[in-house]
This record gives sequence, structure tokens and C-alpha cells, in this order.
Amino acid sequence: MIVRDTLDRPLANLRLSVTDRCNLRCAYCMPEPEYVWLPQPDLLSFEEIAKLVDVFASLGVDRVRLTGGEPLLRRDLDRLVALLAAKPALRDIALTTNGVLLAEQAAPLARAGLKRFTISLDTLRADVFRELTRRDDLARVIAGIDAAAATGLPDLKLDCVVLRGTNDGELADLVAFARERRAEIRFIEYMDVGGATRWSMDRVVSRAEMLARIGRAFGPAEPLPSDGSAPAERWRLADDTTFGIIASTTAPFCASCDRARLTADGHWLTCLYAPAGLDLRTPLRAGASADELARLLRARWTARTDRGAEERLAAARRSALAQPDELRADPHLEMHTRGG
Ligand code: SAM
Ligand code: SF4
Ligand code: SF4
Repeated sequence: MIVRDTLDRPLANLRLSVTDRCNLRCAYCMPEPEYVWLPQPDLLSFEEIAKLVDVFASLGVDRVRLTGGEPLLRRDLDRLVALLAAKPALRDIALTTNGVLLAEQAAPLARAGLKRFTISLDTLRADVFRELTRRDDLARVIAGIDAAAATGLPDLKLDCVVLRGTNDGELADLVAFARERRAEIRFIEYMDVGGATRWSMDRVVSRAEMLARIGRAFGPAEPLPSDGSAPAERWRLADDTTFGIIASTTAPFCASCDRARLTADGHWLTCLYAPAGLDLRTPLRAGASADELARLLRARWTARTDRGAEERLAAARRSALAQPDELRADPHLEMHTRGG
């Protein structure tokens, strides 16, 4: 049975964060020198995740995305994919990864039943990658993208967060790189989410500016019809190359937001900007039945009023959502805990 919130938005899409750890330190997500991690015993087992997914599916969720932190750091992730792939209610099982460990894992994940890969790629320049992520792994990411392409799974996507003064001069090169791999690149506006402690509006490159830059390189892009709930607006160039833009900062899409996030320790967030989530781990481990858990979820979703990014846009003065000491006090505020 499909549940709808106060703005008539269905609960359809669940992002499952399988770890809060990461092997990169992207400047827009984890710029701090130190982090407080979720306690290991709190992390949900794959069986616990699968049980919760069944409850979500009973309320209308038919698409899941594995994320993190870096999901490929979670050992035997292909076993979770196989558990999820066995659920007929799920029509989509996707993965968002930074790609560093993907060369080894792409084929086993595809064999386990994964349907789609989304790989983050912010730059094609080794020096910029090093500056942006504090690691030297661009070659491994590109090998990971090639391994994902070699699985033959459809709908390969590359996600790029655009930061003024860092990678905003590379948009055309990234479009060309994706085209060579038959992938679609999506440019994401820099968001002021928890964790983005260095965020400022002057480093945001807006959708309009991205379109102008791409237009200068390839000629004008034609907008494609939207598919309703997808965050990316898609565009087509004269040679049929398509690309997407996720304008979460300057043109948020809260009105059609059907997604929610489950942290690796079982907190359920109905908005990326929500101050806190609903703890599902405690009732789950206390033996709550599927019906009891479904009641908790239904009550929370039917009362949902979240429009986090729209509220941020309306705020007169805008700066980072949370300060480093607040993030250390509550790591659930972090984007790398919530799952992007
Ligand atoms: N580690 C994986 C990765 O990077 O693909 C998955 C988790 S990461 C939190 C998911 C997505 O969040 C990535 O595509 C990343 O680019 C995006 N993200 C993180 N911080 C962001 C920010 N401040 N603004 C926009 N996107 C952000
Ligand atoms: Fe970068 Fe993803 Fe890691 Fe955040 S979680 S630091 S976006 S790789
Ligand atoms: Fe959905 Fe919240 Fe993001 Fe708006 S800010 S699109 S309501 S998750």
C-alpha cells in the first residue's frame, strides 16, 4: 500500500547507507581533519537491512540505492545486493560509489543482481583530484568506471559536484569523457548540507552558468522531458549526447521528493536537511514485528512536511548548515552518514 505525505508525495525511493566510512575526503563533503564514526556494533547487518527493506516495500518503496560513506568499503556488499535482488517488489537496485574500489567489485556486484552504477567523478586532472579528495586515486576511479561499463549494465551515470575555482573549467571535458564511455554525466550544484563546512554561495556554480559553459563548448542544449520524481533535469546536445543537471541549491525539487534515507545504524531520515531521523534500529533489535515497524514508518511519512532545500533557498543569509563541533557531537548530521 502506497503512503503519501502531507504534500501528496509517495514514499518510493530509499537510499541505504551501508557505512559512514570513506576512503576519500572530498572538500565538499568531508573537509575536516578528524571525524567521529558510528559505533561498529550499531551498524545494521545485511539481514537487518533486508528486513527493513521489506517493511519499506510494503509501504510503496520500489527503488533502492546503496550509498554511504563509501559503500564499497562494506565487506561482501555483493551479498546484500543478492538479498535485495531476490525481492520482487524492488524494480531498481542502484549503487552510488566514488569508484576507487570498483575495478575489483563491479563484476561481482553485477552478477549479484545490481541494476545500475552511479560513479562520482569530479575531475579528469590528477592534481585537481588530489586537491579535492586528499587522495591520489584518480586512475583507480577511471579503472572503476571502465569496469562498470564492461559489465554491460545499462544507464551508467557519472556524478560531478561543481565547485567554482576547482573543476568548473572541466565541464566540457567531462561531457566528452562520459560520451566516450556511453555514460551520462550529471552536474550537481554544491549544496550546503551537513558536512559541507566550507560551503559558501560564491563557490556554487548555478544550473544557468553550467548550461552557458556547456553551450559555449558544444552549442545550445535542448531540454528533455522530465520523468517526474528524478532530481536531474536532462539536456541533449546537437550530436545526441545527453547530460543532467541537479540544481539542488538554486532550484530545489522538494515538491516531488519521494526519497528517504536510512543510515548504516538504522536512523531513517525523511529529508537530507532534517535535524534528526527516526531510530529504527532500537525497535528492530527489540523484536518489533513488520506490522509494528510499518506503523512507525507510516505515521512518520504521513506527517512529513519536509522541504529542506526550499527552506534553505528562502533563508535570507545562507552559510554551512552545521559547524564542525555540532557534527562531532552528532555524526548523524553528516552527509557521509546520511548517504547522498
Ligand atoms: N561515496 C560515494 C560517492 O561519493 O559517490 C557515495 C556517498 S556520497 C555522500 C553521495 C553523493 O553525495 C556524491 O555524488 C557526492 O558527490 C554528493 N555530495 C556530497 N556532498 C555534497 C555537497 N556538499 N553538495 C552536493 N553533493 C554532495
Ligand atoms: Fe567524497 Fe562520497 Fe566520501 Fe563524501 S562519501 S567524501 S562524497 S567519496
Ligand atoms: Fe527531498 Fe529534503 Fe532534498 Fe527537498 S531537501 S529534495 S525534501 S531530501
